[in-house]
This record gives sequence, C-alpha cells and structure tokens, in this order.
Amino acid sequence: MVTPAGVRAAGVLVEDEKIRGVVGIEQVPSSVPSTNFGDAAILPGLVDSHVHINEPGRTEWEGFYSATRAAAAGGYTMLVDMPLNCLPATTTLAALKAKRAAAAGQCLVDWAIWGGVVSDNQEHIDELAEAGVAGFKCFLIDAGIDGFTMVSEGELRAALPRVVRSGLPLLVHAELAGPVEAASRRLERHDWRRFSTYLQSRPDAAELEAIDLLLGLCREYRFRLHVVHLSTSRALERLKKAKAEGLAVSVETCPHYLHFVAEDIADGATLAKCAPPIRNRENREELWRGLREGVIDLIATDHSPCPPEMKRLAEGNFRTAWGGISGLSLALPVIWTEASRRGFGLEDIARWMAEGPARLAGCDRRKGSIAEGYDADLVVVDPEEEFVASEERLHYRHRVSAYLGERLRGAVKKTFLRGTCVFDDGEFRGEPRGCELGR
Ligand SMILES: [Zn+2]
Repeated sequence: MVTPAGVRAAGVLVEDEKIRGVVGIEQVPSSVPSTNFGDAAILPGLVDSHVHINEPGRTEWEGFYSATRAAAAGGYTMLVDMPLNCLPATTTLAALKAKRAAAAGQCLVDWAIWGGVVSDNQEHIDELAEAGVAGFKCFLIDAGIDGFTMVSEGELRAALPRVVRSGLPLLVHAELAGPVEAASRRLERHDWRRFSTYLQSRPDAAELEAIDLLLGLCREYRFRLHVVHLSTSRALERLKKAKAEGLAVSVETCPHYLHFVAEDIADGATLAKCAPPIRNRENREELWRGLREGVIDLIATDHSPCPPEMKRLAEGNFRTAWGGISGLSLALPVIWTEASRRGFGLEDIARWMAEGPARLAGCDRRKGSIAEGYDADLVVVDPEEEFVASEERLHYRHRVSAYLGERLRGAVKKTFLRGTCVFDDGEFRGEPRGCELGR
C-alpha cells in the first residue's frame, strides 16, 4: 500500500464505499471476503484537477462518458472539469446547471467543476461559489476558443474581492499576451511547421511576467492562487520565495512538460502543441527539481482533446493547429517512467497525483489518501510492467495522443471507485456510478 507517508504491506478494510481501517496483513479478519493483490502496489485513486471534458456543447471533442472511462483506465477516481471548451462555458449558474445535467448518469468516476472568471461575469461569482464549484479559473491571455474571454488586470481586480470572499482557489493560466504578441510578430515570416518557431512564439517571459503580476495581486488581495500548467522552470525561484513569504500559492505542472523535450519534437508534430509550450531538456530537469523541492505541488494532466482534424496533422502547422495534449489514461505510467528513473518512489506519485490535487479541489477529507473515513478509491498498479503506448490504451473519444509509441513503465491493473471495481485489466465494469462531489 502506498500513501504519501510511505510504502508498507497492509490490508485496507472497506465497507459501504468507505475505508474503515488500514491494518497489518495478519489482522485482516478471515471472516470477511478479501482479495490479495500480491506484490502489486495499491495507491489512492488519483485525482485530476485539470481536465477539459468539453460537454455540453463540444461533446464531439470529448464527453463525460468517454473522459471518465479514460480516467478509470488511468487509475483516476476523480476529475475536476475546466469551465471552458464546453458550451456554454461555466461562467453562470445556468451554465453550471447545464453541465450538471449533461454529466448526470454518464460518469465512471467522481467529478467536480471549476467555475470560470471571465471579462464580464463578476456578478456571477458569488452564486457559482454558493452552488458548489470547487474554485475558479481564468486566463490572462486569449484562451484560443470562443465563449471564454481572458481577463485584463482591471477585470481581475474587479473579480478578486468576490473570489476572496468565497475562500476558493483561483486557478490561472499564467501567460501574458505582450511577450507572445511581440515574439509572434517577429516570427511572422518564419516556418511554422517547425516546433522551434512555435516555442519562440511563447517565450518564458510571458509566463514570468504573468506570475509576477499574480504574485503582486496575491500580496494585495490575499486570495488563494494556483498556477496551472507551469512550463518555465525560470519561475521556480520566485514561486519558492512567494511561498516562503507566506502567500497562499500552489503550483501544478503536467506530464508532457515532465516527459517530452523541445529538442526531440519533430517539425510538423502538432500533437505536441500546447500552451505554454514544452521547453528544452534543461528546463524539464529543473521542473523535476521543482517537484523534489516542493515548489511544484502537484501534477495534473490538462487533458485537452479535440477532433483529430483540428490538429492539422497533414499540414503540420503549429500556428493553426489546436493547442492541447490528451493522454488522461497514460499519465500515471508516463510520470512513473520518468519519476522512477530519477529516484522518486510511488509515495511521491501519491502525493503529486492524488493528495495534492484533492487538496486543491477541496475534497481532501474524502479523496486522495488511503486512510480511515476516506472514500474507498484505490488503484492497483504493477510498477514493473512495461508497455508501448497504443491506441487501445487511450479509451477517450479520439484515439490520438502525443504519447503513442512511447515505451512506458507501470501498468494500471484495477481501479476501485468507492469500493466497487470499475476497471479490471482492460475491461470496464458496471454502470456509470460516478457522482458530483460537493465541497
Ligand atoms: Zn487546460
């Protein structure tokens, strides 16, 4: 059994969907039905605090059924859905209700919802908080999709008192438009089939300037700031200082920044396009150092699929291709492959991919740990098994991913949601029984 505290041989007692206790193997009562998982590792069900499910409105991109199926296959027992890419975007109470109606009865794992903060919805923040969103998300740069506007500093300032009052975290896409627009103008006539052109168009400075702005606002308003998908390692030092100063700042990065490096991305390989972009090898190693030092708190997937034609694979143009990497079902093996190589243990995975995201989403008294009183969400993993990522392991709507063909280590064998096996060696079990999790 693996928890952030360490690894030990143990029996997990489960009753009525909950963990009733964790005991020594010899203390498991012989009178109750039990399953022995042998040498496999049992981790807390993973929590993904950054997923774009796209339903309602863009269900042809992804949907609650297909996304939660991929989640179950990937060892996740809870997803928190981002407020954009669905239509309507989750920026009003009516939109929140529409999302709940769309999700009902379709989910193989539990879920919760982030609300959006956009240019003109300040007066909806209180009611979204009261209605039970896990927190809020905003963009400091164009989100690249209709229906979800970015916020200027002024608009953010108008929203922050309400966010503070809610006590909920504000998740921010931390890139500023200025450096991106200036770089893109310079690159106008460059070859956009080249990954290096795209990388240069989204410089580190865009992230750094955004983070500086956010830390200043955090000092002023004292809101709970969460930086999503940190890509540049150059921000680590200032984030470390901000934490030491006592600001309520948390930081996430994603499997693609911890696995891929810019040097290896082929020209035209738009499956690897995301924003901010995947940076160089040295940057990747520094992000791992950020995890080691605890400056980066958690790993979330930013699973963001689209119909395959939007990746424009035929022309391979990084300017026009959709930015977003999908790989929800492969995140655990991707991270274990990289983490085990660098001397980390499964307990680190439990901390980064279960406990940390559960805390961010405000469900850390029910999810993200194996302990008495928690939901019996468990994932059984063979940490030694190696495989090559193939389409049949993806399970979400469109079987495309930047990870296809990668040799990975660590296979999800079974996933239990509140005591019931929902994924069993490649097969899905039972009817969708995932619920929305209130705070
Ligand atoms: Zn995202």
